[in-house]
Amino acid sequence: EALPSRRPIRDLPDELISQIAAGEVVERPASVVRELVDNALDAGARQVTVRLLAGGVRLIAVEDDGGGIPRDELPVALRRHATSKIADLHDLETVATMGFRGEALAAIASVSEASILSRPAGQESAYLLDARSGELRPAARNQGTTVEVKELFFSTPARRKFLKTDATELAHCIEAVRRHALARPDVGFAIWHEGKLVEQWRAAAADGTDAEAALARRLSDVLGDGFVEKSVTVDHWSGAVHVTGRAGIPDAARSRPDHQFCYVNGRFVRDKVLTHAARAAYEDVLHGNRQPVYALYVEIDPARVDVNVHPTKIEVRFRDSREVHQAVRHAIENALAAPRAAAVVEAAA
Ligand code: ADP
Ligand code: MG
Repeated sequence: EALPSRRPIRDLPDELISQIAAGEVVERPASVVRELVDNALDAGARQVTVRLLAGGVRLIAVEDDGGGIPRDELPVALRRHATSKIADLHDLETVATMGFRGEALAAIASVSEASILSRPAGQESAYLLDARSGELRPAARNQGTTVEVKELFFSTPARRKFLKTDATELAHCIEAVRRHALARPDVGFAIWHEGKLVEQWRAAAADGTDAEAALARRLSDVLGDGFVEKSVTVDHWSGAVHVTGRAGIPDAARSRPDHQFCYVNGRFVRDKVLTHAARAAYEDVLHGNRQPVYALYVEIDPARVDVNVHPTKIEVRFRDSREVHQAVRHAIENALAAPRAAAVVEAAA
């Protein structure tokens, strides 16, 4: 029988490498929004504005007032595995920024028409870099960065075909910003679609507001007043793990698990250990398919959690998952059992 014909082993062209890598990072417009907002927050932005056309398929522009990128570094920002956030293995193990893989901009630029407009403090003007042509020219802008992403997947029609309606893609984009907004009450967010303001969450005052009040306010702005009225404060130390946030009373439970937000060191995650721990905490007070609501923020020594599990970093691996499970479970159980929780339950009844 004839062997299958084979071609010699060769290095793939750079562009194709990026497009392959992009498949892992950029699934839909919301993935782009998530990466760009990550970058804005890593740059210290106090205000992040997201502008979309056609659910983000035609245009995603994310504008921030963060530290900016110096002119000479703009082309570097687009290169694969180029990052200002880590320099060595030790940095990787203690990373505190959202990004560190240096892949997002390269991936996004390989499947869209992208440009970066940026101005750091002290630079005489802003510069605009067109990713496709490589053209770099002076432009007008205050301090900060705007990344524009047009015609997502125009060169990869197979991907484009998987996109849903504009309304569905828009909903995913909003959800992506919402996840960031719940972690950063100190930052203002606005989302525009087709020239209309669709969401706006104002930053908590820089001074005067305590963190708990700022979070409560942000949670009501984003999830509705009911979320805060029918939830109790979580604030629990278990060994070196600190769990804060709010846990809904049983009466606040929903039919879908759409108001369950978990963060690890400020990063939104989907994690079986955390959801299982929360489930367990509600075991005796919730029945059937009722889904608890909560926003939980786990703070843990970065060396005890690996965030480098998946390119999108939505999954993490805990060094000691039992420790984290217990911390979250006890945090919620204690919050629900506290006298204040009892008062909230009574008021809601
Ligand atoms: P990563 O975030 O993993 O470093 P990215 O591809 O997302 O990789 O970004 C590459 C680099 O570009 C970042 O490390 C950062 O220095 C710079 N950068 C990207 N977006 C911004 C922004 N909004 N403000 C300032 N710098 C940015
Ligand atoms: Mg990034």
